[in-house]
This record gives sequence, structure tokens and C-alpha cells, in this order.
Amino acid sequence: MQEDQQYLVPDYYPAFRCKQGSCRTPCCEGWPISFSMQDYFRLLSIPCSDELRRLLDGAMHLCDHPTPDHYAQISPRFDGQCPMHQPDGLCRMHAELGEEMLSAVCRLYPRGIRTGSDREASCANSCEAVPEMLLSHSAPLSFRLFPVRHCLPDAPPRIHHFHTAGREQEIRLWLISHLQNRAYSLPRRMLLLGEALQAVDRALADRDEAQLDALLSNRETLHVPDAVDAGHAQLTAGLAAAEEMLSIMDARSRSIHDYGKAALAYFGEGEAAFARYEQAAAGFAALIPEWETWLEHLLVNHMFFVQFPFQDRPVSLMDEYLALCAVYAMLRFLLLGWTAEHPSREAAVDVCAAAFRLIDHTEFDRFAAPTLRRMGCDDWAHLRQLLCL
Ligand code: SF4
Repeated sequence: MQEDQQYLVPDYYPAFRCKQGSCRTPCCEGWPISFSMQDYFRLLSIPCSDELRRLLDGAMHLCDHPTPDHYAQISPRFDGQCPMHQPDGLCRMHAELGEEMLSAVCRLYPRGIRTGSDREASCANSCEAVPEMLLSHSAPLSFRLFPVRHCLPDAPPRIHHFHTAGREQEIRLWLISHLQNRAYSLPRRMLLLGEALQAVDRALADRDEAQLDALLSNRETLHVPDAVDAGHAQLTAGLAAAEEMLSIMDARSRSIHDYGKAALAYFGEGEAAFARYEQAAAGFAALIPEWETWLEHLLVNHMFFVQFPFQDRPVSLMDEYLALCAVYAMLRFLLLGWTAEHPSREAAVDVCAAAFRLIDHTEFDRFAAPTLRRMGCDDWAHLRQLLCL
């Protein structure tokens, strides 16, 4: 077990607690659990009860393409549950063998521990306890140092590097501050974030440290884009784009399938879609009057969790931004489409957690930008249509 180390965390992080048996969609459901080679051989021989041995031997198998870190898996049962998941919500392996024997993902989820040059920790929005916490959080998320102890080796070094003049974390928090600027509506803040990202991208590309400093200290005033016009033409076009995007995403994910199908069926297409959308938007605003604050938190938490826009992959900063716009549009579409016929805050949390199972735990971000590009939705005019949803 490593010593405590100071990590930058969002202010909700110290209070996070797993809901255990009261969780509606436990993370022990629907996902194969993978183990390292070391953990696999430890589990093969560890002394335990006959019952647990039977469960382990029955559920554990080698991965199709085993690697030292992902060597074997525990597959879900016929009902999608992990065979170790007990009716009380607790884990049989944890209860009998202790935390050390759990796979890395079971020990940490939904926590994301970043051990690069900036040590950071946060929780994934895919765990329903997180959007629930954020739903009752009013002030903009703040970030502070907090002692974190985890029992995992540091992550392997990054493969892809961005020139950030040594100010990566500062740039990321500065970008987040634009999404938290409540002087503007959330869709307009999303556009402002795009402006800020383009400005920082230019300064970094030009190696212009004076300009970068002027931006990060807010001495340089950014152009604030006009408010999005959610008029008939814009909204109808935005809806059609969201429906097309969702049909493409739906083919890649089980987690949003039912929600996506219901939302697409609810809105339908053409003229009626616009009227139904307006109705659903009014219903959602009545159900969650603080929806802009809640979505601000979800997007900010997602940006911090994935270290937006400097993720460890060869994707341009503006493509990471396109992916974030896709996250916004998909969230709004699913939330309004699902809560229109399931008008409860729990239902809103459930569809949100399901959406982030796709967003945070698949290559969503990598195919979102190319998908929007193929749809011809990667310019400001089309982004404004998507963001007026
Ligand atoms: S999804 Fe979150 S609250 Fe539910 S069981 Fe997993 S960690 Fe706990």
C-alpha cells in the first residue's frame, strides 16, 4: 500500500461513497472484469471457501488477446451480473479475500487516478452515485489538494505528448472556468469554451508564451460568441443531427440502446419532432429547474476525469472539443427524450450514468469527432444547431 500523496480533486471527491445494495445499476453488472497476469495466478491458488473456489473456477478465463495488464477476465452471468456480486450489493471476493485481491477496476471504480506529472483523482459520471451527488451541488465545482492512497502502480508513461509550455493543468482548469462562467447560458458557454480552446491552441502552436500567459491570466479578452438561437429552423436541424449521431452511437453501445431507442421513438422526425422537443424541454426544466448547473457539473467533471483536451492519444485539441459538443448534444437528447415519458430525477440520473458508460469507458471521444465530420456537423454553424438542443 503506497503512502498518502497529494492529488488535485474536485470538491465532491472526499464525500464519494458507493451506494452498494441501493445502487440501481451496479457497476458489477454488464461488464467483464479484467485481471492482470499477476492477479490471475494469485487467484488460481489462493486458499478460499469451496463456494468461492467454485465461483472463481467457473467464471475466470483468459482474455482473447491476453496482455500482462489484461490477462484474464471474469465474465458476467446470464443476467449480466458479476458472479461475485452478492444480493446485498457487496462483492463475495472482497468479503472473503479482502480488497487487495480485487482487480484494479473493482478496487478503484469509479475513481480515476492520474499519476502523470499532474497527480489528479476524480470519479466517473458513469457511476450513478456521482451524477446524484452533482445534482445537489449548486456552486461551481472547485478543485483542491487531497491526500489519496491507492494500491496501484503508477500509470505507464504517456505515449502522446502535447506542447503545453509546462502549464498543462493550468490550461485545463482555465478552460473549465469558461464552462463555469454563469454570466452566459450553458450552450453559449460551450461556444465560449470553443473560442478559448482555439485561442490557446494558436498560442501553443506559435510557441507564444506571452500570449499564453495573457490568456491564462485573463488579460486577453476573448470574443464571446452570440447566444445560440433555438428557433424552429436551428432546433429542427439540431434534432435531425442528434438523431443521426445517436443512431450511429447506438450501434456501438449496449448501455444507451434502450434509452436511445425510446428517445428516437418519442421525438420521431419532421414537424412533430420540433413540437415534441419543445414539450420535452419544458418538462425537463420543470423536473430539474437546475438542469444547466447539473449539466455544467457533469461536463466539468468529465473534462477533469479525462484530462480534456490533452488526452494520451493523437487527436487534435479541436477534435476533442467536437467530441465534447457531441457529449452535450447526446446528453440533452437522451435526458429530454427519456424523462418525457419517465418524469423522475432518478430516471434522469439513470440515463445520464448510462450515457457516460459509453462516453467514459469506450473510445467514444475518438469516434465522435470523425462521426460529426462525416455528418458535416464539424463547423461552427452546425455546432450551434447541436448546442441549441
Ligand atoms: S455504480 Fe457506483 S454506486 Fe453503484 S455499485 Fe458501482 S461504485 Fe457503487
